[in-house]
Amino acid sequence: MVSNLRYIPGRDDVDWSRSTLQQHARRLWDAHRPDRALAEYRLKWFLVPRISPPAAVCRVCLTAWPCRYADWAGDNLPRPAAATASPR
Ligand SMILES: [Zn+2]
Repeated sequence: MVSNLRYIPGRDDVDWSRSTLQQHARRLWDAHRPDRALAEYRLKWFLVPRISPPAAVCRVCLTAWPCRYADWAGDNLPRPAAATASPR
């Protein structure tokens, strides 16, 4: 029997279908966002170029963004959604 276990942050390994994984990735991606709009953030710090901008923080985890959830979700979203949703 082929094992199809996948690592998901915050959970034990799961044996989900691809579509279930992508739905979970979408939920995580929607929830684990930076604590400020990246466009606003970049504009603000463009105007003050000599100071390094503080790292954006995940509004759920309160750690540097992308947090491990956003990072995982970005890797597991369906390709077109990831391409349009990526802030980079
Ligand atoms: Zn997070």
